[in-house]
Amino acid sequence: MYKLSIAELGEGLRSKAFSSRELTEYFLRRIAALNPLYNALITVTENSALAAATHADKQLSSGIGGDLCGIPVLHKDIFCTQGVRTSCGSKMLDSFVPPYNAAVVENLASAGAIMLGKTNMDEFAMGSSNETSFYGPVKNPWDISRVPGGSSGGSAAAVASRMAPAATATDTGGSIRQPAALCGVSGLKPTYGRISRWGMIAFASSLDQAGPIAGSAEDCAILLQAMASYDPRDSTSVERSVPNYRATLNNSVAGVKIGIPKEYFLSGLNPGVEAAVMSSLSTLRDLGAELIDISLPNSHLSVPAYYVIAPAEASANLSRFDGVRYGHRCADPEDLEDMYRRSRAEGFGEEVQRRILIGSYCLSAGYYDAYYRKAQQVRQLIRQDFVEAFTQVDVIMGPTCPSPAFKFGAKGDDPVAMYLEDIYTIATNLAGLPGMSIPCGLVEGNPVGLQLIGNYFDEASILNVAHQLQRVSNWHTQHPEGLD
Ligand code: GLN
Repeated sequence: MYKLSIAELGEGLRSKAFSSRELTEYFLRRIAALNPLYNALITVTENSALAAATHADKQLSSGIGGDLCGIPVLHKDIFCTQGVRTSCGSKMLDSFVPPYNAAVVENLASAGAIMLGKTNMDEFAMGSSNETSFYGPVKNPWDISRVPGGSSGGSAAAVASRMAPAATATDTGGSIRQPAALCGVSGLKPTYGRISRWGMIAFASSLDQAGPIAGSAEDCAILLQAMASYDPRDSTSVERSVPNYRATLNNSVAGVKIGIPKEYFLSGLNPGVEAAVMSSLSTLRDLGAELIDISLPNSHLSVPAYYVIAPAEASANLSRFDGVRYGHRCADPEDLEDMYRRSRAEGFGEEVQRRILIGSYCLSAGYYDAYYRKAQQVRQLIRQDFVEAFTQVDVIMGPTCPSPAFKFGAKGDDPVAMYLEDIYTIATNLAGLPGMSIPCGLVEGNPVGLQLIGNYFDEASILNVAHQLQRVSNWHTQHPEGLD
């Protein structure tokens, strides 16, 4: 059963092969058995899941309910869930129970999806390995001595081990695509503004975007359909109709122009990853796509620009955690200043504190022009590279990450080595473009990802190309051992 896609599970529900209640109980049993091994979930919402499943069964039997009605999903613990602890992977929010649901949570609930629980993540979504979570690291189901990627490592590991058929995630610099790549699943970061950020705890507001992680491009299309909406509560949400993403999945890729940026194949790329990416590209050529060499000349500036802009925005966003209104408060403060200081020192972990320091420094009066303004200018150059490239090609493709999953602790002492994990993913966030990762091979038994980047609001094209590739290949149907 765990091998079935969302589309197949939906057929099973509609043909009454099983009920949503049975499906929900099945995945809750898998969570009970597997989560102790992988630590992918922080919270399990068993009772509300069973109640929602009973409701979905009623809808299904009266013939209402779309593709997601009765399908179990998980939410990254960055999305506010009414009455359910939302920790953002931090001690700071360990006891925070939101009084409302995030827009993404509302949208999936009204599509009939069943929330099974909340997934583990790097603290405040800062990290590429899940090692910064207050709740301990998530283990990669392909090899538990390796990281699952981050920050949505819990969502990716939970889908890879099929504790749920799908999970929500967020991506500020790669946090959907990198863990999807390292765990051998499919993940989509939509265009900035496509999905409402309302109720999604902010890391770097001009870069953050929610998206799905699932077993295939088709399943990502089904999830995006429900997650995307215009929302006046998020002023950066874009008022634009949501196309029918499933309708174009089967378009032919003959004649589709695929740009291959030379900057994504330079030294530092693992040869096994390169070979896997090349093999997918030649499959696409066999399907009639046209491969075109392109250049994104400012690519090398994306990591430095990101590590000014993201910490700057984070330092401002995280100033709300002051021990006064919600979140951790230190014991017996001497005065207000002492309460701020100790609440934040105790509530935030090392990486979060590092980012706040970097961000506050870059925004300080003496350094604003040298760092923050400069980084914003570089961001425009990076965006311009893509605008230029999309005058020649329909989709851009390359590796998602430079190498497969690394071992725990391998980059722990070296923040810059960790930051370079996102060398191929960050530019799309800086430009606001949609990007996707799908599995394209195994290197010594560890999954690697193929990245697809689309033009603004053209999620349909990357989903189409990814789906056509998945029709003729089977990397997305491979599972780690020991799941039965
Ligand atoms: N790994 C990057 C960082 O640590 C990206 C994180 C993300 O996309 N949330 O900032």
